[in-house]
Amino acid sequence: MIMSIRPILIHPDPRLKTVADPVSDIDEAMQKLAEDMLETMYDAPGIGLAAPQIGILHRLIVMDCAKDEGAPPRPLAMFNPQIVWESDDRNIHEEGCLSIPETWAEVTRPAEVVVQWTDPAGDPHEDRLSGLWATCVQHEIDHLNGTLFIDYLKPLKRQLITRRMKKLKRERSRDTA
Ligand SMILES: [Zn+2]
Repeated sequence: MIMSIRPILIHPDPRLKTVADPVSDIDEAMQKLAEDMLETMYDAPGIGLAAPQIGILHRLIVMDCAKDEGAPPRPLAMFNPQIVWESDDRNIHEEGCLSIPETWAEVTRPAEVVVQWTDPAGDPHEDRLSGLWATCVQHEIDHLNGTLFIDYLKPLKRQLITRRMKKLKRERSRDTA
């Protein structure tokens, strides 16, 4: 299977604010999409990517948070991921996003979550995630609901970041023109 790196959308973009559709049939095209997303994520490099970030409005996310914990790679592709339980314990993590380059901010989220999803082979899974994995999966599922991590920040800070991203996009389009 030949993989390809897809361009990542930069905020602001209406596709990043849209609720994505469930995937009803995990066919070859969907499996290829998951492979492409992993390739795109590793290339960026990043630890998570959601389909809307490459302009595809389906409920599919990919993640690999293993490298930050010194473990061997553990690529995960989740179709229709759903959080079915979250801990009362909170965790503050400095988050970034491939759609909001060079921007980090602290976000508070449940420290542990239980997630249900379907893998590319069509098999259902349920797992309890903690640490960076928990933060990452919540960040990526947010993307499927049109929510960005900057939506948790104070309006003024969010506006500042959005202005900077608009400028970045202008500069990038000038560079490629
Ligand atoms: Zn993101």
